[in-house]
Amino acid sequence: MVQRKHMPTFEVRTAQRTYPSIVQRGVLREAAKHVPSSAGKVFVVTTQDVWQHHGGSLARGLGTCSFELLYLPPGEMNKRLAQVELLADQMLDRGADRSSLVIGFGGGIVTDVAGFLAAIFMRGVPVLQIPTTLLAQVDAAVGGKTGVNLAGGKNLIGSFHQPIAVLIDPEVIATLPAREYRAGLFEVVKCGVIRDPEIFELMTTRSRDVLDMNPDVIDRLIAGAVRVKADVVSADERESDLRRILNFGHTLGHAIEAETAYVRFLHGEAVAWGMVAATELAKLHGMLDHEQAGRIIRTIHYYGPLPDPSDLEPDRLLMRLGSDKKTLHGKVHFVLPTRIGDVAIVPGIEREMIRQATMRALTGKL
Ligand code: NAD
Repeated sequence: MVQRKHMPTFEVRTAQRTYPSIVQRGVLREAAKHVPSSAGKVFVVTTQDVWQHHGGSLARGLGTCSFELLYLPPGEMNKRLAQVELLADQMLDRGADRSSLVIGFGGGIVTDVAGFLAAIFMRGVPVLQIPTTLLAQVDAAVGGKTGVNLAGGKNLIGSFHQPIAVLIDPEVIATLPAREYRAGLFEVVKCGVIRDPEIFELMTTRSRDVLDMNPDVIDRLIAGAVRVKADVVSADERESDLRRILNFGHTLGHAIEAETAYVRFLHGEAVAWGMVAATELAKLHGMLDHEQAGRIIRTIHYYGPLPDPSDLEPDRLLMRLGSDKKTLHGKVHFVLPTRIGDVAIVPGIEREMIRQATMRALTGKL
């Protein structure tokens, strides 16, 4: 028998419920343990590629617990309300009721859509999240934010719906395409910059091991990032205050994704450019010294290559900032690093300064 290392469990404490985020190799094969005995029909929402790679393991993990499979077509363009309705219709056709359980088994798109489906199906059924991309493991699946996109912007329809548990199995990311893996690494860099210098150190000192998916290093990084997410969400579930720090890089990142119709940049890649721009902005604003800014930007680029954004019009990106959820009372709020491990939320920065930082980040010019 393979000796399994003990892996950590992080509690997320919210008004809705307290639940575990379990980081453990092989946890997928123990999924049945996390299906409540009170659960009725189980619906697994997934994509075909994920099911092909890991469906067998999950099916074995669910043991005698029977389930229905619901497929979501892949891609950000399918993270739409219409797909949620199609899934809900299928649930009803296959006998779902208020005791049903939804399992989100896939990347962040699946966990966002499955979570939202569970939030609104018959006014709410429980969801168990089993994320299969690095990005979903360290970010999307933990914290209860669920939702879909509108044509005009990301995640503009949604709800807070906390899962009953999050099962994070680092083994499953071995089958991720390299680009998807790197896209997830940017969210790990984010956790280091906003809150945990040790994560950042590991990303810089063990960078080769990170790229090689060395289990020792990658398990530590996943656990560290999940800890950051669990702590921040537990302190501020509804993003009235501290939780906004998780949006580092997302202000401009969302604008880049929307401007390129969600097809050119992966979410993590758009966030990476957004973090470079926010770091430039922090420097211009006099909040961050050049040495720390250089380390952040170099680390982001190390985990590239990122798709080239130099043809994007800064003015068009700036216009899009206005329709982002991070705009409050018409003012764009930026999350800016003050040093590695700490950020501040800064409202009301002059448009020209944002423009300059964006230009510098995306084109290397002023
Ligand atoms: P994704 O869901 O599109 O997954 C990436 C691709 O990899 C998909 O084609 C998927 O089918 C495939 N895949 C998934 N797991 C695999 C595996 N183990 N092996 C092989 N292929 C696999 O992308 P993502 O980066 O995971 O998620 C991005 C989404 O997450 C965005 O929509 C973003 O808005 C959302 N998000 C949400 C939150 C939140 O708090 N709710 C936080 C961050 C991001």
